[in-house]
Amino acid sequence: MCGVFGVYNSKTPAEDAFYGLYSLQHRGQEAAGVVVAGYDEKKKKTVYRQHKGMGLVSEVYKDPEIFKKMPGYAAIGHNRYSTTGASKSASNIQPFSLTYRSGNLAIAHNGNLTNSRALRKELTERGVIFQASSDTEIIPHLAALSKEKEPLHQIYHALRQVQGAFSLVILANDQLIAARDPYGVRPLALGKKTNPETKEATYYVASETCAFDILSVDYLRDIEPGEILLIDKFSAKNHKPSSLFLPPSKRKARCIFEYVYFARPDSLVFNHSVDKVRRNLGKSLARESMVEHPNDDQHQIVVSVPDSSNTAALGFVRESNKISRPARFEHGLIRNHYVGRTFIQPGKESREIKVRSKYNIIRGVLQDRQIVVIDDSIVRGTTAKMLIKLIREAGPKEIHLHISSPPITNPCFYGMDFPTKGQLLTYMFADAKDNDEEIENIRKYIGVDSLKYLSLQGMLNSAPRFEHETHSYCTACFTGDYPIRMTDATTDKEEYDSGE
Ligand code: 5GP
Ligand code: MG
Repeated sequence: MCGVFGVYNSKTPAEDAFYGLYSLQHRGQEAAGVVVAGYDEKKKKTVYRQHKGMGLVSEVYKDPEIFKKMPGYAAIGHNRYSTTGASKSASNIQPFSLTYRSGNLAIAHNGNLTNSRALRKELTERGVIFQASSDTEIIPHLAALSKEKEPLHQIYHALRQVQGAFSLVILANDQLIAARDPYGVRPLALGKKTNPETKEATYYVASETCAFDILSVDYLRDIEPGEILLIDKFSAKNHKPSSLFLPPSKRKARCIFEYVYFARPDSLVFNHSVDKVRRNLGKSLARESMVEHPNDDQHQIVVSVPDSSNTAALGFVRESNKISRPARFEHGLIRNHYVGRTFIQPGKESREIKVRSKYNIIRGVLQDRQIVVIDDSIVRGTTAKMLIKLIREAGPKEIHLHISSPPITNPCFYGMDFPTKGQLLTYMFADAKDNDEEIENIRKYIGVDSLKYLSLQGMLNSAPRFEHETHSYCTACFTGDYPIRMTDATTDKEEYDSGE
């Protein structure tokens, strides 16, 4: 997964991109990059300058001198999620930038194309040279090969040919273009700040609105599914940016996992508060919960797995109390915030030490109590299994594990960094005769007194509804119902696994 950011008509585009990416850090921790468009007085034209590197945003832009070397008026930036294999190579760090017959182009992408293999083969046969193994590079090549004259129309032409999930920010000479696939899989928001003296507008584009908040930017609206939005010097003078639209898809397929786990709760995603949806998920889970309350007048102690399930746990507690099942939210698990995703664990029991390095228990909160542990999702199941073992050490009376989404049974081909099907916990128990037996087997494996996943309907009912749509969300990881054909989809995981 990734985070993207764009800014147009700013005096400090590189710094803006830094702060934007900094607040989108959760969307990708492997690498970061910024390309700035600046006017070169000597050359009398716009030139692009870039700085990219492996690691966190704060590491890649540690040296303040970097910003002095990237003056300009517009920028795009990208955070790359830590995946595996080929993606570790520096040549895959975005934005990609290139020079072609119409000038300069730079692109940053969140999502995954599903026909990249075929397009790449076709382009390679036509003599196109690829520098990276990422699917994103196909888009600027298709644009460069287009017979259209204007970059906007070249990009339209390119995006007509690609399939899959894409939220894009593109610099094309002195223009900023933002685009979203017709299904609307990944989020993309538009923001604006108006200079009170000059009345000039600065436009911003970001995966999530938390990137606007850090810069005191107002959220205007989402880039619509299928929209290609052009921001240029006229928009800077406060003329409304213009848009083109790709042919609409039959249905929409916003990624529901953005609400379940991925996005920050302080963001608006798909024009709705992530915090609110996540609380709803917790409330629905409380309504579906079958745990018998202890009859000794004690509260249920509800513990979240910080930080990702904090919000769902709050919703759960609120609803539990409403339906007369006294519950109390407690911090029973403490997370070490300095453990990064790239944390290396020496030693044999590395998986256990990994969980122990990240979480510790507060004995007094958990001992002799009925504990409901809330987590947002189970992917491989390692976190849950180890955490429960850890919580048992505190001597609770009962442990009930409640998950604020249904079981994950299928990989994601649209950008979420899930493992292959065989690495998902559910795969281990896939030969159970029915759902109940499967859940019971998982419960025993994790070692809890009860295990409850939120139902698919419960999850969908917790998410916002969009008018005039029959299908608004992609739930493929839970249902196997893939909304976008994926005959030749590739994921980084796939490449990696087959090469192992
Ligand atoms: P598991 O150990 O089952 O693979 O991971 C489950 C935990 O990872 C949950 O606590 C959940 O919050 C978190 N999680 C869910 N999806 C993802 C993901 O795509 N990437 C990462 N890094 N963590 C995830
Ligand atoms: Mg978590």
